[in-house]
Amino acid sequence: MAVPGAPPLADRVRFGEFPFLPGAEAVAGELAGSLRELLEDPALGRARELGRARILAALDDPSGGAEITELDTAEPEVRFLSFQYARILLGAAAHRAPVRRWAVAEAKRAHARLRLAPEAELAEVARRLGFGFREEGAELVVPVFDYLRLATPIREAEFRLVRQPVGAGEVRLPAERASRILQEGIRRQLSEPLPLGAEAIREIREREGAFLDEVAERAPPPASRLAEGPLVAAAFPPCIRRMRRALDGGENLSHSGRFALAAFLHKVGANTDTIVDSFRGAPDFDEGVTRYQVEHITTRSGGEGYEPPECATLRSHGLCVWDGDPAAPKEEDRRADALCHEPWLRHPLQYYRRRSSGGGRPVERSAPQPREPSSP
Ligand code: SF4
Repeated sequence: MAVPGAPPLADRVRFGEFPFLPGAEAVAGELAGSLRELLEDPALGRARELGRARILAALDDPSGGAEITELDTAEPEVRFLSFQYARILLGAAAHRAPVRRWAVAEAKRAHARLRLAPEAELAEVARRLGFGFREEGAELVVPVFDYLRLATPIREAEFRLVRQPVGAGEVRLPAERASRILQEGIRRQLSEPLPLGAEAIREIREREGAFLDEVAERAPPPASRLAEGPLVAAAFPPCIRRMRRALDGGENLSHSGRFALAAFLHKVGANTDTIVDSFRGAPDFDEGVTRYQVEHITTRSGGEGYEPPECATLRSHGLCVWDGDPAAPKEEDRRADALCHEPWLRHPLQYYRRRSSGGGRPVERSAPQPREPSSP
């Protein structure tokens, strides 16, 4: 573990409170010495135990609601090291699903502290994470660009930019709202596994192999069953492809996007397991809740299910990507889609039927849609 130099006292206190901040690993290096010591030193057994407990609690309840009572009573150094240990362990996990779920839970835990922090501290934490916050009295002022980066994945409508006071390229936020968007920044920061070298990963797996197996079992990677059965995934419209990519990449998807994806997959013939699998990459994935909501969407009217939203509705929610998606890894997804610009195309199902049949007539517009239920 590299120790680039002892941080000043004020930083040590801040790192203890917010162990996710860049630079905190220097304190971990001081406390634990080397990775081998952190893995083996009997004096650090309590920190390792709590680190494992942090991971398991997050996997059991990614909403961050699972209590770890021992954390509250642990010494500050033990608490700090337990966080670093959990992060190191997840850096050696076989895939990214566990680290994403842990990131959700830890970001929520951090939010509980940030809500109580003075505005100046909130702004300092944000700046250290790379966001240009500054405090002005009881408010936080955030550049629009940073606001969009942080607030876009939040599903609650009250966080949409149109509902914020914007002026001179900045958004003014009460501390409570600023701490909530910062939670997203922390989640994103922690969702990236620590870049560990091959030797470090080997050492960790040697010591913690059984635990990492358990982690992999509790948080399996997003498995796609779309290749099975009658579905033609290559015929999905760009909006649906974008939603699936977002979830597979561990990004959050809005309530409207989740509903649209589940209802669309049902209509094109996916069964419940396949639809539930599509949501496994979501940072807050909860199998029980997802299955319940998917069943609610798909079993309406004797299995008919809810109608997926039309293109106009998806467009109004910012989910239509008919002009292409510059961030998409595949060339065909980066380009505008000619079929989406056909005047008759008003529904993603029309796109799918046309593409999956290799031709065919446009289908009728779907019936008026009932109100959306809860999304997965
Ligand atoms: S035009 Fe319709 S089918 Fe095409 S990306 Fe937009 S919402 Fe999807």
